[in-house]
Amino acid sequence: MTLPTHAQIVVIGGGIIGCSTAYHLARDHKADVVLLEQGTLTSGSTWHAAGLVGQLRSSASITRVLKYSVDLYKGLEAQTGLATGWKMTGCLRLATNPDRWTEYQRLATTAKSFGMDMHLLTPKAVKAMWPLMMTDDLVGASWLPTDGQASPSDITQSLARGARMHGAKLFENIRVTGFDMTDGRITAVKTSSGDIACEKVVNCAGQWARQVGAMAGINVPLQPVKHQYIITEKIEGLATDAPTIRDPDRRTYFKEEVGGLVMG
Ligand SMILES: Cc1cc2nc3c(=O)[nH]c(=O)nc-3n(C[C@H](O)[C@H](O)[C@H](O)COP(=O)(O)OP(=O)(O)OC[C@H]3O[C@@H](n4cnc5c(N)ncnc54)[C@H](O)[C@@H]3O)c2cc1C
Repeated sequence: MTLPTHAQIVVIGGGIIGCSTAYHLARDHKADVVLLEQGTLTSGSTWHAAGLVGQLRSSASITRVLKYSVDLYKGLEAQTGLATGWKMTGCLRLATNPDRWTEYQRLATTAKSFGMDMHLLTPKAVKAMWPLMMTDDLVGASWLPTDGQASPSDITQSLARGARMHGAKLFENIRVTGFDMTDGRITAVKTSSGDIACEKVVNCAGQWARQVGAMAGINVPLQPVKHQYIITEKIEGLATDAPTIRDPDRRTYFKEEVGGLVMG
């Protein structure tokens, strides 16, 4: 496929955000969309993501977006034929001190206002749900049964296929190098393989969004932060549908993956 010389909307970045943006613009707005990825689809942060899908945040609008994401992941495979790895395992958030427990009691009320049923569990109930866990130091845990986990790369490939099915054109190995601007508006995207005249640009360049913004003289206040995780060998007795765990007091999360644990 040759790079077009014109598009209504150019999306920069082929991670989960760029592919989701292209998918929704093409599906819901019938937009003429071109997506440009400097490497291959999902080669940025998306490839590394652990895949925990949590919904409840302190911001109402973010919570709404996350709830929508869960609904989307449930039905995407039926639309595109590509699996997303979505598993509704539920999520346990551990409280190891009274302050955290108070926070969860408040969170349970917030969850209700979003139509989500968050339960508060005793350490004994947590142990029954996650038999491998030592629960001696727990005050309790919150439990959101509709949270889960998915494969970020698979979701992205599924969204990319969905975007293509709705007419979007996705290009890999094309790097955006700058913009043509008139009166403060972008009129064309310059790339390593030629220019594309366009009406709108969406900056979905993830940790590179600051550099892409700077090409148009825009300050994107974004600073990448290093994040590491470990993946264990198979652990005997670990259920494949074990709930994901967030332990904010020890700044750790856990997720089952092919019989072992991802901990980050
Ligand atoms: C170790 C780790 C674990 C994580 N775990 C989780 C988790 O469990 N749950 C969760 O929700 N989130 C998690 N995250 C966060 C999640 O990975 C990111 O929020 C998400 O992947 C960001 O997607 P993105 O599309 O914005 O960015 P990216 O996936 O980085 O995509 C941006 C793309 O833009 C492209 N690009 C950049 N500049 C240009 C250019 N000039 N021209 C063309 N293309 C360009 C890049 O090549 C890249 O592919 C984790 C992150 C890390 C690092």
